[in-house]
Order: sequence, then structure tokens, then C-alpha cells
Amino acid sequence: MNDIFDKKTRSSIMKSVKSSKNKSTELRLISIFNELQIKGWRRNYKIKGKPDFVFQKARIAVFADGCFWHGHNCRNTTPKDNDNYWSAKISRNKKRDQDITKYLEQKGWKIIRIWECELQNKNKTNIELRLKPIVEQSVYK
Ligand SMILES: [Zn+2]
Repeated sequence: MNDIFDKKTRSSIMKSVKSSKNKSTELRLISIFNELQIKGWRRNYKIKGKPDFVFQKARIAVFADGCFWHGHNCRNTTPKDNDNYWSAKISRNKKRDQDITKYLEQKGWKIIRIWECELQNKNKTNIELRLKPIVEQSVYK
């Protein structure tokens, strides 16, 4: 554990990184919802795992996952990031994500997990495809 910051400082740094990243990811997703004329989403819905968006009637929960924090195997996470200190935490996050997905699916929810890197413009076709289950819910058109 060769961190140049003490635990408390590091924790507050990472917290601010996390919240600002999360926010931009969520805002980007909202603008995509608008483009695709997807309506009816709710935020802060009280359900296990705290999905970023919930379509209650359709029972669809959407998570916008930051690539670093949720351990996406993409260019946003370089091997350098995965030192011992963070990789333990990230694998815990991954495990938790899987458990929550499983739990909610068993409760009849459809889970869509969107990676931060999927929200870039070059991935637009992909994201439209991924959100198709929501678009197809005619109640939200
Ligand atoms: Zn990614």
C-alpha cells in the first residue's frame, strides 16, 4: 500500500472524484434519454443497490457505472490504476454489482448496466441498442 496520501485524505479525494464522475455520467445518460424520447424515469428510487434510474412500471433499473470503480476492462482503466490498494476495492465493487443484479433480477427487474465509456458519442449506436428495452415500452413514448 504505497499511497502518498494518508487514508483520510485519499478517501476524500476519491470521494470527490467519484461524485463528479458519477454526476457527469448520469447527466449524459439523461440527455440520451431525451434524444431517444425516453420518459418516465425516476431517480433516487428506494430499492436495493440504488440504481441511477428506475422505470417503475416497466420494472427496468438502469445503472450508470464508472469504468474505474466498477472494474470495466476498457481503456478508461489502465493497468497502473489496478495497484493492490484499489484492485481489492474494485473487485469488491464488481462482486457487489453482480450480487445486486442477481438479486433484482430475481425480484423481476430487468437490469441495464451502462458503462461510462459507452456514453461517448462514438458509441451512440451501441447505447441506443442497449436502451431498446426501455424505448420499446410504449407507455413511455
Ligand atoms: Zn469502460
